[in-house]
Amino acid sequence: MCGIVGIYNVPEASKIAALGIHGLQHRGQEGAGIISYDKEFHVHGDYGRVDHIFSSDKVIKNLPGDTAIGHVRYSTTGGTGKSNVQPLFYNLDFGGFAIAHNGDFTDSAYWREKLTKEGAIFQTTTDTEIIPHLIARTKGIDPVDRLLTVLNKVNGAFSIIALMDNKLVVARDPYGFRPLVIGQYEEGYAIASETCALDLIGATNIKDVEPGEVIIFNNETTLKSWAMDVNFKWSRLDQKEDSISSQRKKVKKDRETYYLDKKVTKHFCIFEHIYFSRPDSVIDNQLVYEVRKRIGEELAKESYVESDMVVPVPDSGMASALGYANQSKIPFELGLTRSHYKGRTFIEPTQKIRDLGVRLKHSAMRLFKDKTVTVIDDSIVRGTTSKKIIKMIRKAGAKKIHMRISSPPVTGSCHYGIDTPNRNELIAGESNVKEIKEFIGADSLEYISIEGLHKAMKSKGYCDACFTGNYPVKKQLATNG
Ligand code: SF4
Repeated sequence: MCGIVGIYNVPEASKIAALGIHGLQHRGQEGAGIISYDKEFHVHGDYGRVDHIFSSDKVIKNLPGDTAIGHVRYSTTGGTGKSNVQPLFYNLDFGGFAIAHNGDFTDSAYWREKLTKEGAIFQTTTDTEIIPHLIARTKGIDPVDRLLTVLNKVNGAFSIIALMDNKLVVARDPYGFRPLVIGQYEEGYAIASETCALDLIGATNIKDVEPGEVIIFNNETTLKSWAMDVNFKWSRLDQKEDSISSQRKKVKKDRETYYLDKKVTKHFCIFEHIYFSRPDSVIDNQLVYEVRKRIGEELAKESYVESDMVVPVPDSGMASALGYANQSKIPFELGLTRSHYKGRTFIEPTQKIRDLGVRLKHSAMRLFKDKTVTVIDDSIVRGTTSKKIIKMIRKAGAKKIHMRISSPPVTGSCHYGIDTPNRNELIAGESNVKEIKEFIGADSLEYISIEGLHKAMKSKGYCDACFTGNYPVKKQLATNG
């Protein structure tokens, strides 16, 4: 899980990009970086949080220009390491190339092995680095054409913002696993993983980058759009209007923006709505907060249990607990508090810090004595957080504790950019609901069903592979794999 931002044709772009990635800090806290452009590229990135890395005026002054891209990182493919902090920058034959990527290429192991055998020297262990290496080996004069050829070759999840000379290119894979939205200023544009970042930097949200869509911002044409069809062929729609299939629509003539045909197999990550995205973001035209409340309502319909109060595990269980309380007519109580000076435990990369984090993060109010409590959380990954929370509530005097979860059991890891652990580390990968209930120490435990979850989404086209095992794109191992 990472967050990306692009600012195009806006004065002091790096300052705005820094604010933008600050608004996406929940998507990754391991490292952050910005690359700006003013006829040359300027790069700065480091470990840590955005406010620490970009707090000094000097750092921002060293990132001049009207165009910038930014990234916050949570390591998935490639693990930790300062060289993995994005955006990545490379000097290619046509000039500088900078890239910020959210998602995981499912064939990165294959490409890395192939390219290394051909003599490529990788500077990082990220999957993103296969892109510049492949561009360097792609024939052609136009750098954008070469990038498109490469995006045509690779598979998996990619929401990308790239900078090449005075052009800014944004792209989303044909499944649309990760979000990407476009905002507008009077002059200039802002692109971000989530609308909460656009709100923060005062850009008006104009559209989602659609699955399979590529949009090119450049000074001559302002905004051009490309599209990828299901056969992974790119068409420059603005130049070849006669070749546009009937399903594709040119929606705004003045912006030269196009939508893909319906055959694109949209598989937006359902977990973005359950947990990852910020509740104030609008994703796929749905406010995440509202979706979470609806999931809570469905959960209550499926697994109502009598109790004295409904208590969310803050912060991500909050909206679904509200929905559960509304539906069940059981009073909602903020019985647990969360320290905001400690990141989400799921974000922290090591188990040791995760264990410590649970204690640092949550504390129980003096509300629970002799009460029956329904606790709502968004998911159970390893089970350790739930176990500690239940212990805490019991210690505070609760008579009975019912745990209700607003996602189905997580039984498989994600191949598309979320660092869920391997199946053997996932408690639901190895244990059934009864065993999990025993492990966490609850009096009862129920999860929302997959049908109930989809019902609450009110629209189709979601990836739910970590609950169902229905992976829309297979992971490709190295050439010998
Ligand atoms: Fe999202 Fe799970 Fe699909 Fe990964 S596997 S994209 S976390 S729904």
